[in-house]
Amino acid sequence: MRSQENAGAFTGKVAVVTGAGSGIGAASARRLSGDGARVVAVDSDGAAVEEVVRTLPGEAVAVRADISREEDVEHYIGAAREAFGRTDLHHLNAGVFGTFDRLPDVTADDFDRVLAVNLRGTFLGLRAAFRRYEEQDSGGAVVVTASIASLRGSDDLIAYQASKHGALGLVHGAALYGGPRGVRVNAVAPGLVHTRLFSSGGGAAGGGGDMEQRGTTTPMRRVGTAEEIAGVTAFLLSDDAAYVTGEVVSADGGASVVNTVRP
Ligand code: NAD
Repeated sequence: MRSQENAGAFTGKVAVVTGAGSGIGAASARRLSGDGARVVAVDSDGAAVEEVVRTLPGEAVAVRADISREEDVEHYIGAAREAFGRTDLHHLNAGVFGTFDRLPDVTADDFDRVLAVNLRGTFLGLRAAFRRYEEQDSGGAVVVTASIASLRGSDDLIAYQASKHGALGLVHGAALYGGPRGVRVNAVAPGLVHTRLFSSGGGAAGGGGDMEQRGTTTPMRRVGTAEEIAGVTAFLLSDDAAYVTGEVVSADGGASVVNTVRP
């Protein structure tokens, strides 16, 4: 829950949030807006993101863009410049799941589709953020939505976890490049979180109830909320994290620290 001391933490800042039409991105847009940022809410689902923007407490614009397309990324950066003159914070969050097939059954098309959004899209968003900061001659902060699948393996999420492992490689490289330039780059790594993507994954894995069941196996015995991920994101984007860069913060109810092979 947003604390009173944090109200206004982003006043005067312009924040871009991708995948803002649903789930974690929508919660992040709400949180950053509530804390004073002017928000550029980006999603490939134009109607959904416009609806989210209508509910935000502060100034915001909705931009329909596919983050895997270079020209669309240029378009949202241009829209941010036109609306607010600059960008300070970027939450690169849009992502897709892919299938739950095991390796021999994963098609090259599915692999390419997932990598195009989750890895190429993150690269394009990072590059655009850095180009913008250089044009503005400013520092900034970026958070990438990674995943527990960036850190741990499973044999039925090949494309997704390859893309999310790759996203961390981008975070590390960008943090090193950004360090001397006043740009911090971090990742939040959610476990299971209640969103549309979560429900679609549950469906593919045998029904939403199955994902719910997996949530009960985490140390905290539950699935997380989009707002809980938005809270970690807001911290990493804020000056409270001014000396934090290249870091991955897990928000997974403790799932990533379980030792599954203890003797
Ligand atoms: P969601 O499906 O609720 O929201 C994702 C949003 O991204 C949607 O509005 C969708 O339209 C948008 N999007 C998809 N492809 C896009 C594209 N090419 N260009 C622009 N927008 C696009 O899902 P979510 O759970 O909120 O997912 C957000 C991020 O969190 C993703 O990167 C996902 O991998 C990550 N994540 C989610 C979970 C979970 O359990 N929900 C766990 C770990 C990581």
